[in-house]
Amino acid sequence: MGAAGTRDERLASRERNPKWKNPPLMIDMSICINCDACLRHCPPQFGAIFNHGIDVVIVPELCSGCDKCLDPCPVDCIHPDPEWSPAPAEWWDEPATDDPYRR
Ligand code: SF4
Ligand code: SF4
Repeated sequence: MGAAGTRDERLASRERNPKWKNPPLMIDMSICINCDACLRHCPPQFGAIFNHGIDVVIVPELCSGCDKCLDPCPVDCIHPDPEWSPAPAEWWDEPATDDPYRR
């Protein structure tokens, strides 16, 4: 395992697992209705989706591209993001303060 092989390691290093072949997914916030269905379907070993203020966001460094959030989305607003950018620093505050995947 490298420095990003487990979720805890990814939270600490803020790096994506380099072994993941699929790009991370992103949420089109202009279409998202903030229903949280995707958040509840993201496997806890990835735990990539968070409520952030009024938005629902996917932290790309935590997203394996497993696609398990796609079918639950009622408005089909989650898409692969091959050109992804690092998550804004404030998105990392969510797992650091109230991690929904550790409840
Ligand atoms: S693709 Fe998988 S890991 Fe990424 S946000 Fe969706 S369910 Fe979570
Ligand atoms: S399931 Fe779709 S509409 Fe609901 S919060 Fe997730 S991205 Fe937004």
